[in-house]
Amino acid sequence: MDVFQIPLILVPEDRKTIQIKLVAGAGEGDCRIKFPAIWLKRKKYLVLMIDKVYWHLLAQYHTAELQSHTAELNRLYFKFNYNDVRYHRQFRRWGSCSSLRNINLSHRLIGSPRQLQDYVILHELAHLQHLNHGKEFWDLVATTGFIPKTIRKEIEIYGRDWQNSYYQWYHQILKSV
Ligand SMILES: [Zn+2]
Repeated sequence: MDVFQIPLILVPEDRKTIQIKLVAGAGEGDCRIKFPAIWLKRKKYLVLMIDKVYWHLLAQYHTAELQSHTAELNRLYFKFNYNDVRYHRQFRRWGSCSSLRNINLSHRLIGSPRQLQDYVILHELAHLQHLNHGKEFWDLVATTGFIPKTIRKEIEIYGRDWQNSYYQWYHQILKSV
């Protein structure tokens, strides 16, 4: 799925709040966004809100799949106990693991190549055992078969491409409203 190619149908209406929905359409479907027509006078704010609800919706839409996939990876490699895993709006980091044993993945990984997502998930799962990046942590990560140096390079390139696509996507919306 290309998260930057989902058609956005923008519907200004006499309403107070923004509402977003994935609706059946060609391919993956369309995304219909109803918003207060008065926001057309505040275009930057409007696009800010569209951006916010759009990624929130995608995150929600992919949560179940992320949860079952993480459970599968954990079952295969570690069998640790953790609380939950979710996508979060996060531009700086790719993943994080909290002391409450919650794993967060950056929303930039929605729709990313499987191996990148697998690595970030396994990396964060490994933090359930070792909260630091010490030798024991890396030894544990190595048991997954991933070579961190190689995969991190791929993630870096993916991140740059993502940022470019996001910038274009954002400005295209700004131009269209
Ligand atoms: Zn780490």
